[in-house]
Amino acid sequence: MKLEVLKNKAWECGFDACGVVPVEILTRERERLERWLGRGFHAGMNYMANNIEKRENPALLVEGARSVIVTLTNYYTSERQHPDAPIAARYAYGKDYHRVVKDRLFKLYSSLQEKDGRKITGRIFVDSAPVFEHEWARRAGLGWIGRNSLLIHPKLGSFCFIGVIISDFEPDSYSSSESRNFCGTCNRCVKACPTGALSPYEVNANLCISYNTIERKDEIPPLIKEKMGNRFFGCDACQDACPWNRGAVLHHVEEFASNPWVMTMSREDWLDMDEDTFKERFADTPFTRPGLERIKRNI
Ligand code: SF4
Ligand code: SF4
Repeated sequence: MKLEVLKNKAWECGFDACGVVPVEILTRERERLERWLGRGFHAGMNYMANNIEKRENPALLVEGARSVIVTLTNYYTSERQHPDAPIAARYAYGKDYHRVVKDRLFKLYSSLQEKDGRKITGRIFVDSAPVFEHEWARRAGLGWIGRNSLLIHPKLGSFCFIGVIISDFEPDSYSSSESRNFCGTCNRCVKACPTGALSPYEVNANLCISYNTIERKDEIPPLIKEKMGNRFFGCDACQDACPWNRGAVLHHVEEFASNPWVMTMSREDWLDMDEDTFKERFADTPFTRPGLERIKRNI
């Protein structure tokens, strides 16, 4: 199958960008990860230390794997929450992206099988398995990894979800990687980080507001509390500061339409909410990950 055909199929499935690269062993990325873990920057995310060999070598994750198909789904919106609403990261405005992106990847996977006329063996991943998504996306020509440690697509910016298919699919040709890094001398994201969690190309999760508000199970440390301001779920500061997001285009995903409750509810509304109302308003959204109790703790 020609690369262009794959890209068109991805476009038909609703993806904003797509590339494909041959499976390789990512030794340099494994070493970087081990240094990061060694410094304890993963905080309570112990799962980051699991399955490092599979993360390094996708052929251990999917037997017979030949290629890594990478897709981007833009979720940028220019809508803003009401000034009295506690601040959530943009990715939480709509439905949970895992299911949305997975559904699209399944569609792409099936259409490749139909087009190729043979069974493809593989697996689909959306932020849920040991995969170096950012590095695969970079290799697939979808952008570069910025000082904020996120993938930056030259046209879409960084407000994108990365979806991956690792399989025995083999196109006629592969994408060429984007080796240039267009951060230049810019350091805005590092300066914009409210807690000092970000050093160039590396996040210390212990200090990161996203980690503390979404993943952290115990009390948020006083230093973070002082600096998180009105944020109660995630943090977009290192993306908002990035000049490559100034031209970000608006998403076109129905499921990511902004939930009116997130956009308008005040601090008191959140604190007064009971579990039934929470389920009614936020089932199938990223807020179910920490759950209502932890959300109240954050607020
Ligand atoms: S998400 Fe927020 S706290 Fe975390 S590194 Fe980015 S700016 Fe810093
Ligand atoms: S803010 Fe500047 S340094 Fe940070 S990711 Fe964007 S371009 Fe790179």
